[in-house]
Amino acid sequence: MRRFFIEQSKIASTKIFITGSDAAHIKKVLRMKSEDSIGLFDGRGFEYEAKIENLLAESIEVSITKCFLSASESPVMIIVAQALLKDKKMDSLTRQLTEIGVARLIPFTSIRSVPGPDKKRLSTRKKRWEKISIEALKQCRRGHVTKIGETITFNDVIKIDDECDLKIVFWENESKPVNGAVQQVHDRHYRKILAVLGPEGGFSKKEIEDARACGFVTASLGPRILRSETAAVAACTILQYIFGDMGLKKS
Ligand code: SAH
Repeated sequence: MRRFFIEQSKIASTKIFITGSDAAHIKKVLRMKSEDSIGLFDGRGFEYEAKIENLLAESIEVSITKCFLSASESPVMIIVAQALLKDKKMDSLTRQLTEIGVARLIPFTSIRSVPGPDKKRLSTRKKRWEKISIEALKQCRRGHVTKIGETITFNDVIKIDDECDLKIVFWENESKPVNGAVQQVHDRHYRKILAVLGPEGGFSKKEIEDARACGFVTASLGPRILRSETAAVAACTILQYIFGDMGLKKS
């Protein structure tokens, strides 16, 4: 079933109106008709089944037939802090991390990251990443968007506590993998993990020392140096495999 994003504020009754580019897409590209079924999601965990009632000039009237909680959210909340990358890389990373089920993405600037754009441009980019995350949900059948944080500094990242069970920096000079860096990985129930990934230029020794002083462990992604955007995807896949829902179900 085709899925469309609907803002929660628009769902005041069982009858709702789809507007904008989605309405045009339903009519002109998908050529859907009255009585056809569609799926809706609000990006906050609720999903709906709905029936098309009327194809109007500027909108589509649908009635909700079923409402349910999304079942595709991972049991582990992964927060990724990613050093700012160039526009296109950050765009595709946002899409990929949404697909993998990352709860929150926090961009940050660090000693070796690309120069941070000015505030106005950062706010445009944030809106763009939010849109990309919603678009990704249509395809990946997830119910929650990846929340995009404001761009902060590395020093602010390492001060994040947020009741995380595990705070981990993926460091290119580390040799221990995640399950070596974290003792008895499989016996522990980690519910909230903060994973930090560096810029193309990597981390400085001082940044790693500062992170460790704030309670972070460091982990390797193997003996090859990965590009930042590959590293983030690999790291989150490993975390979902060990702690989340990409591996065997825990009994
Ligand atoms: N310029 C650096 C590499 C930076 S790679 C160098 O040549 O050494 C960019 C980021 O990806 C790193 O800061 C780290 O967070 C992650 N990364 C890449 N390969 C990694 C690996 N093998 N282990 C852990 N993290 C890695």
